[in-house]
Amino acid sequence: MNRTGTAMHSLPALIRRIQERFEKLEQIGSLGNRREDGFDRPAWSDMETAAMKYIQSAAEKAGMVSTWDGVGNLFLTTPGHGEEFVQVGSHIDTVPSGGNYDGAAGIVCGLEAIIPLKPMWERLNRKLQLVLWRGEESASFNAVCKGSGAAFGVCNPDILKHTNRDMSLYAAIQAQGFDPSFIAEKKATLGPEQKKKIASYIELHIEQAKRLETDGIPIGVVSSIRGTVRLRVEVSGEANHSGGTPMGIRYRKDANLAIAYMQVGIHEACSYAIEKGSDLVQTAGIVNIDGDFNKKHPLVYANSLTKVSPYGYFALDIRSNNTAFLTDYVKDIKKIIQERAKRFNVEVKITEILRLAPVEKLDPAIQHSIEASCRDLKIPFIEMPSGAIHDAALVAGQGIPAGMIFIPCRGGISHNPAEYASPEDLARGSQILSNVLYRLAR
Ligand SMILES: [Zn+2]
Repeated sequence: MNRTGTAMHSLPALIRRIQERFEKLEQIGSLGNRREDGFDRPAWSDMETAAMKYIQSAAEKAGMVSTWDGVGNLFLTTPGHGEEFVQVGSHIDTVPSGGNYDGAAGIVCGLEAIIPLKPMWERLNRKLQLVLWRGEESASFNAVCKGSGAAFGVCNPDILKHTNRDMSLYAAIQAQGFDPSFIAEKKATLGPEQKKKIASYIELHIEQAKRLETDGIPIGVVSSIRGTVRLRVEVSGEANHSGGTPMGIRYRKDANLAIAYMQVGIHEACSYAIEKGSDLVQTAGIVNIDGDFNKKHPLVYANSLTKVSPYGYFALDIRSNNTAFLTDYVKDIKKIIQERAKRFNVEVKITEILRLAPVEKLDPAIQHSIEASCRDLKIPFIEMPSGAIHDAALVAGQGIPAGMIFIPCRGGISHNPAEYASPEDLARGSQILSNVLYRLAR
C-alpha cells in the first residue's frame, strides 16, 4: 500500500503484465505476423468481439463480473458495495491498417489499474467498472462513438444504413448477436436508473500527437475535447468535351474546378480564424474517393481526362473546442461554398454528416484528482486539450463527470501501423489511473 491506501504492485511486474496483454491483443486482427504490419478490428466485427472477449476472460479471472448491453458494449465490474460506479473506459476497434494502442491502451491500462486494487474492492464505497465501448472509430460505418452513443440513445438512426465492406451497420450488429433496434428507436441501452449510478468516468488514451514526447512529460491531464462538424459537399456541373468547350463559365460548368476553389476559400477562412486566435483544425480527407458512397452516386465515375467534370464531392471535418465559434464558423464556411458554386455556375448540396459539440471543460474535480495522483507518484504532468474525439466526450455530454489522461505515443503517430506506446509509459498511466480510481471510489 502507498500512502493513499492504494495497493501498488511493483512496477516491473506491472510492465510485464501490460506487455503480455498487448502481445495477446496483437494476435487479434493483425494484418501480418509483426506489430508493424498493422491491425484491422472494425466495429462489430469478429475481431473486435474476439478482442473484447479476451479482456472479458482476463477480468473474470481476476474476479470481475461481466455484462453485455443490448448493442454489445461490455461492462466489467468489481464485486463490492455501493450502488454507484466509477467507470474507466475506452474502445478496442481500430481503423483499417491502424495500430494496437489507440483505444486498447485505455482498456489494458484500465484493467491493470483495477486489478491491483483487488484487496480494496470490498472496502470501497463505489464499484469499479471497466467499459469497452463498441465502434469508436469513424472509419467503419462513417460515424463516431457508435457504442457509447447507443448506450445513451444519442446515435442518429440513419447510421444503421451506413455500410462497411458491403455490410450495413444494422446487419453487422445483428451478426455479432446484438440488437440494432436500440439505435433505430434511439432507445438507450443504459436506462436512466443505470445512468444515474455512474458517479464518474475516466478514459486513458494515447495522445495521438507529440507534445508529451517532445517535452518529455509522461502524463497529460486533458482539459477539453474538440467538437466536430462534418460536411459532405456535392457539386454538380455538366459533362462536355474538354477540347471543344471554350473556357469560361458561360460555356463550362466544371464541378472539379469549383471544388478546387471551394477548398482554397475554406482553407483561407481557416488560416484567418487561427490568426485571430481561434481554436480550429479542418481537413478535407475525401475528394471523390469514398467507395461506399460512390456505389450510390456512380456519376462520379463519369469524370474523365477529356471531359469537363460533371460531378464531384468532398468531405470536410471541422473541429474546435469552442462551441459558439464552431457554430458561427460552419455558417461562414457554408456561405463560402455557396459563393464559389455561384461563381463557377454549378449546383451544390451541403449535407451535415455529423455535429458533435465540444466539451469545453472536462470535470474539474476529476482533473484535480489526476493532478493529485501525479504529485503523489511524483510523475510530471501538463494540462492539455484533446484534439481528437473520444468516448469520454459522449459521456460528458450526458452530464456525467468525466476526465481523461493522455500518455505519450512514439513520434505522435496514430492511425498508422507504426503507432506505439512503451510498456513503461503505459504502466505509469495505469498507476495514475489506479490512484485516481481509488480517490473517486473510496
Ligand atoms: Zn481512440
